[in-house]
Amino acid sequence: MTQDARKIRLIMELRQQGIADTEVLSAIERVPREVFVSSSFVDQAYENTALPIEEGQTISQPYVVAFMTQALEVKPRMRVLEIGTGSGYQAAVLARLCRRVFTIERYRSLLRRAEEKFKAARINNIVTQLGDGANGWPDLAPFDRIIVTAAAPEVPPALKEQLSDKGGVLVVPVGRDSQAQHIVRIVRNGDDFTEESLLPVRFVPLVAGVVRNGAGLS
Ligand code: SAH
Repeated sequence: MTQDARKIRLIMELRQQGIADTEVLSAIERVPREVFVSSSFVDQAYENTALPIEEGQTISQPYVVAFMTQALEVKPRMRVLEIGTGSGYQAAVLARLCRRVFTIERYRSLLRRAEEKFKAARINNIVTQLGDGANGWPDLAPFDRIIVTAAAPEVPPALKEQLSDKGGVLVVPVGRDSQAQHIVRIVRNGDDFTEESLLPVRFVPLVAGVVRNGAGLS
């Protein structure tokens, strides 16, 4: 089967799994996931599974990327903050749907690789930062949308503070590692936050501190 045929099969599977937002499906169709997986997993780029990347992290399952992106309700003019760049794939999908994506990763090595992949995929509206995403990006706040792609035991307060107070949406997996985690969606209006739990998931944990490794990466 060709990669194109595998990709079509994946899109059909996502539709069957309840992803109905055609903008989200077309963003997934247009982002080359094979660029973002590790080279030894290129054959599995369009399988509906999470795959290992460097530093013991993972590129999320396409269904989970689609589900979280749909839950975020991104509009074209929006500025979106992502915590946990990882492979860069989720950021690339978001970049197709909004004006600008700001993404924070704690491993320098992963961030450098992701930056190279954005270039390879000709994506120009992603701004990266090495940092601890639990602090958000205060200088650039507020954000219309915030997505966290690592599980936090509780929602980092800084992220709630940096959410637009006019219908800002935060989507985050909440729960401790190896215990029940759920994707939670928080909507902010003024100082009122409504919270709903959407989907059981398994994410790598949100970890404090920055790792300045991989300085020699090209
Ligand atoms: N969105 C990614 C998912 C990567 S897995 C993708 O599409 O591939 C989660 C990532 O979150 C890992 O790369 C991990 O290093 C990163 N991470 C964990 N804790 C973090 C923190 N406090 N700040 C920033 N990134 C963090």
